[in-house]
Amino acid sequence: MTGFNTKLVHGIDINDNNTGAVVVPVYSATTYQYGKPNELPRWDYARSGNPTREFVEKQIAELEGGYRGFALSSGMAAIHSVFATFRPGDHIIISNSIYGGTFRLVNEYLKELEIEFTEVNIQDLAEIEAAIKPNTKAIYFEVVDNPLLRVASVKQISALVSQYNVLTIVDNTFLTPYLQQPLKLGANIVIHSATKYLNGHSDNTAGLVVVDSAALADKVYFIQNAIGGILSPENSNLLRRGIQTLAVRMDRHLENTHKLVEYFSKQSIVAKVHYPGIQNDASDAIARDELRDGGGVVTVTFVDHVDVTAAIEKLKIFKLAVSLGSVESLVETPYNMSHAELPVEERLRLGITPQLVRIAVGLEDSTDLIADIDQAFNN
Ligand SMILES: *Cc1c(COP(=O)(O)O)cnc(C)c1O
Repeated sequence: MTGFNTKLVHGIDINDNNTGAVVVPVYSATTYQYGKPNELPRWDYARSGNPTREFVEKQIAELEGGYRGFALSSGMAAIHSVFATFRPGDHIIISNSIYGGTFRLVNEYLKELEIEFTEVNIQDLAEIEAAIKPNTKAIYFEVVDNPLLRVASVKQISALVSQYNVLTIVDNTFLTPYLQQPLKLGANIVIHSATKYLNGHSDNTAGLVVVDSAALADKVYFIQNAIGGILSPENSNLLRRGIQTLAVRMDRHLENTHKLVEYFSKQSIVAKVHYPGIQNDASDAIARDELRDGGGVVTVTFVDHVDVTAAIEKLKIFKLAVSLGSVESLVETPYNMSHAELPVEERLRLGITPQLVRIAVGLEDSTDLIADIDQAFNN
């Protein structure tokens, strides 16, 4: 069993039932019988371990080429479970362009626990190196950032920081292991909001962590069990099922996204198309070298005379909603929606203007998607 698609469908055989069922059962039991009081059984209590959850944990570890995987109750729970392995006085470098919920966790919670953070421009290796201090333990970033979809180099950053014994932690929600496997490029921990592409159907909130070593696995397992933000057996089952179709869904996401990118690139009402590999900056080479493809999200800056709000109201297929990675196509305006928590000056500094529209491309017919955009924006 070697190919990615074969791994997606089959995962790892941990099915211990005798029924011949071809999918792992949903083990809803919260407790398991001991044979003898002094003999800890393989499974004892469901927070500590559950066969359905373990299936999805092994599935993601296999797909990422990692040592061990962990399933948590949300992407934020997964991110927290990794940050919770650090201690007061530790210093972590973070990208200045990360998911808003992660910023909130860092600024309004972790800093109060006296974990120290320095924000950097993740495209700037010199700035990263200058931020490293004797107590620096990790660097944290998103490989493809949001909403402008610039690509950071896992290879270059991990090669740099590992010389200082600094861990590389990436949130790779936007790419999934189908488009990049960061541990193979030098990262130590990869995190996913599995709510997005990995589950894929807008019906399950979930998070995953994969680590590259036994030492990190022990630390994350301790937090998963001690804090208890586990993914339920039912939600683990849904995620297992979503992951099995990741590749076929991603192929359609990519096909449709490429057609939309091509369409937008030709429109006079479009000032800029933001998509990995066509940014006209240094990140294009990184995208070519480290990503199999740019993914299923495209962000568009419309020229000033386009009334973005009025156009969005005319859309019939695209739904106005945050999130991404699902079967249905979504649009949102980062300025008012996903990034509204940032102060206005900060939004504008990052290039998040009212003319920006982020599109999470779904699995519909691309001709219908283009026709819908065209009737809404081009008249
Ligand atoms: C959605 C998202 C998260 C948070 O995940 P939840 O499942 O909503 O908790 C974290 N990082 C990125 C990049 C995301 O898109």
